[in-house]
Amino acid sequence: MIHLKNEKQLEIMRIAGRITGEAIQAGREAIKPGVTTAEVDHVIHAYIVKCGAKPTFLGYGGFPASACISVNDEVIHGIPSHNRVLKEGDIVSIDVGAFYRGYTGDSAATFPVGKISPEAERIIRVTEESFYRALEVLEKGSARVGDIGHAVESYCVENGCSVVRRYVGHGVGAELHEDPEIPNFGTPGHGIRIIPGMTICVEPMVALGTGDVYEMPNGWTVRTKDGKLSSHYEHSIAITSNGPELLTKV
Ligand code: MG
Ligand code: MG
Repeated sequence: MIHLKNEKQLEIMRIAGRITGEAIQAGREAIKPGVTTAEVDHVIHAYIVKCGAKPTFLGYGGFPASACISVNDEVIHGIPSHNRVLKEGDIVSIDVGAFYRGYTGDSAATFPVGKISPEAERIIRVTEESFYRALEVLEKGSARVGDIGHAVESYCVENGCSVVRRYVGHGVGAELHEDPEIPNFGTPGHGIRIIPGMTICVEPMVALGTGDVYEMPNGWTVRTKDGKLSSHYEHSIAITSNGPELLTKV
């Protein structure tokens, strides 16, 4: 069931979204060679709590941290660890949600650690740009879910990357994951129509290789099967009568 939001609910979601976006930036500033992913998670946790919000991911389905931090061939759901030391050349995906007065934001981005390879730079750029291709589709109005996915995948493929099909974007609001599902692939003109009042997460998960993935024995971390790099970019978006509004962009 899709939960449409009214202006009052949207007001709260804007705050939850802003805190989420700022928490990502706080994490970004903490990233450097020699820092552990647990330390980055700590910075994010502290920022969200300082804002009077709660880290949505902490305890969600049993997840043990406030942010998912996924390095290199890890796609999503990486568990922050004191043993995972970031080194020059890594790429780090941070995925965060802040829960505020009954609503959550959800956002992700991938950042370099020091100087990275041209391939790593390329996948980060293509992932982010594919998100904005989807946003253009939403700006035109009365898009369908299939139009969004098609925009993301076709852009990634044109640029020599593939999308990870096993995980998808989603509605967002009082729950972290609401209807509808927003896959990163699709057929133009097909699927549910996106209408004002919807709040959705568009989140390209992109790989330099095939995009086939597996889940590690820890029950969380998802990695590429071929060990190639992966990147993630996500914003929570409110669909309004004036067009899409990025709730988590700061
Ligand atoms: Mg997310
Ligand atoms: Mg999400």
